Amino acid sequence: MADRDTILPFVFDRLPVRGALVQLESAWQRMLQGHEYSAPVAEVLGHAASATSLLAQSLKFDGSVTLQFSGDGPLSMLVMQCTDSLDLRGMAISTVNAESTSFAELVTGARCAVTIDAGAMERPYQGIVDVSPDSLAASLENYFDQSVQIPSHLALATSASHCGGIVLQQMPGELPMNEDDWRRLGFLIATLRPDDLVDGATTMLLHKLFAEDDVRVFNARPVRFHCRCTQSRVEEVLRFLGESETRAALAENGNVEVTCEYCGRMRSFDAIDVGRVFSDQALTGTSRLH
Ligand SMILES: [Zn+2]
Repeated sequence: MADRDTILPFVFDRLPVRGALVQLESAWQRMLQGHEYSAPVAEVLGHAASATSLLAQSLKFDGSVTLQFSGDGPLSMLVMQCTDSLDLRGMAISTVNAESTSFAELVTGARCAVTIDAGAMERPYQGIVDVSPDSLAASLENYFDQSVQIPSHLALATSASHCGGIVLQQMPGELPMNEDDWRRLGFLIATLRPDDLVDGATTMLLHKLFAEDDVRVFNARPVRFHCRCTQSRVEEVLRFLGESETRAALAENGNVEVTCEYCGRMRSFDAIDVGRVFSDQALTGTSRLH
């Protein structure tokens, strides 16, 4: 159900705070498809999907947000990417199989970064996220406070059928925030559980969470799973691998198969395709000389 994959932006009428609520259902299930993630990895992947869409919905330009973990620890890679038009894709690679692995154990030795790409116009901005052993939400709250200097509360939830979350941010340039109100809002969103999101990101849920506050809700925006892999990008991968490696794989199997790690789409190259991929490169090389 596509309408369950939505982000609902909102503001508080009497507090200098804006926020957004996200729930992902079919996008989340599509992301899990073809992967055998253990529960701890699926949990952090769902948190990352929710957090990255919440970050991307606030972009004011054509671009994308990428959240990336990498390292030599149990979580060797996690990449989550969302565009300003809310096309989301992501995947993780991990050695963790134990269902009892904690977030702290999972991210041991992992680095985390947020990259904001404003398209071809500017250089991408990359911020390093100080990974908190508590959770991804706590790590990103630190990032907002320290790197972006926007005090934020974040709550994230994952289940097998859906994931979601909520972000609250103090609005820069507004009147100073009352600390008691800010703490109170933090406690309220910390109560968010996956079950609260079974009906989607709804105005009703926001009114339930913030019963004492006047919340003004904007139009819901759809989020979809969409992979940006293309034939030409896969061909680039083959060129990067090199002609002799590619031809060796071709000789062994009769064709070369490349599977996208995000969407699972498999592209197959036979001898004629491989010949074209590397003759295109020869042409490109020649044209560069002139
Ligand atoms: Zn793909």
